[in-house]
Amino acid sequence: MNKTYNGTAVLQELNPEVREGDMVTLLGPSGCGKSTLLRCISGLTDMDKGSVLLEGRNITPLAPKDRNVGMVFQSYALFPNMNVFDNIAFGLSMKKKSSQQIKSRVEEMLQLIDLTEKAKAYPHELSGGQQQRVSLARSLAVEPKLMLMDEPLSALDAKIRKHLRTELRQIQKRVGMTMLFVTHDQEEALTISDTICLMNQGRIVQTGSPDEVYSRPKDEFAARFIGSYNVLTREEMSRLNIHPANSNAVDKFALRPEAILVQPNSLELQQTATDNGSALSPYIGLGLIEEAVMLGNIVRYRIETNGVRLHADLLNGDQVEKFSEGDRVRIHIDRQACIPLAPSGT
Ligand code: ADP
Repeated sequence: MNKTYNGTAVLQELNPEVREGDMVTLLGPSGCGKSTLLRCISGLTDMDKGSVLLEGRNITPLAPKDRNVGMVFQSYALFPNMNVFDNIAFGLSMKKKSSQQIKSRVEEMLQLIDLTEKAKAYPHELSGGQQQRVSLARSLAVEPKLMLMDEPLSALDAKIRKHLRTELRQIQKRVGMTMLFVTHDQEEALTISDTICLMNQGRIVQTGSPDEVYSRPKDEFAARFIGSYNVLTREEMSRLNIHPANSNAVDKFALRPEAILVQPNSLELQQTATDNGSALSPYIGLGLIEEAVMLGNIVRYRIETNGVRLHADLLNGDQVEKFSEGDRVRIHIDRQACIPLAPSGT
């Protein structure tokens, strides 16, 4: 699938797949093409090249309303002059369902989103989270084969957003709904997805389960975007005396901030990089805490060791040693924790 705006390629050779019943997330920074991809699938925007297949059927020539694809946006877009019941019933009325069919389907949807008691309320009488649940129910009511969701939780405040994403995932599983969900929030993507398609500059950089994408970033972009990894050059790796086997063609390596062990320097390590005799031994060296930032459940330290600057995350708790700026510490890095990265864009 390709899409160009004013001569600029916005989507380049994309070929995402969504398995029936799965929750697939398009994750990437603002402007990378996520919404454009959704709009092409829904038919709201034309593609330059490519086709959209739904259950093997080419739906590209069909108008958006005939594609059997539901869409939920960041703005709830409810009809302000209709109550909750009528909002949810809207699509069913358009499909000329009988009033009995409409009543029973809307009641089912109200139960699903746990808003039965708000059936008579108007959108302005609901919270943002409740409005978004109604918006979801309105789209689900007509039983689309595929549900597209464009940053549906972004307008909500942090606490409701977290609550609603769990609820959304439960509803999606209960109904067995196939969903393609857009977000720029890596935590959101990691918590709700079966599969994440990580996007950058109009391309899908990496596709995999949340664990795969988090644990094995493919390139520098993936490492920086999804896990706040340290990205080390080959030169920095050799300063740490780490020379990974079979990686001559690799220029960059990723190291998770939580994979670095930071201990008090009670062992009186006098020299940096003392213990690096064998090719398999870890890097053990002295470090200087340059910065300590409290992030709630973790503390993020900026540490200098042997001329290399690293971020290390340590759990914040009573049982855990805390360090201050200027402290000398002992650093331990397993060489297996250093992940070779493919050059970006390959
Ligand atoms: P995302 O959803 O990842 O934030 P978008 O799909 O909205 O990204 O936008 C991708 C790129 O396409 C951006 O550079 C944006 O400016 C451009 N773009 C989106 N819609 C239009 C349009 N209607 N006309 C021209 N350029 C557009």
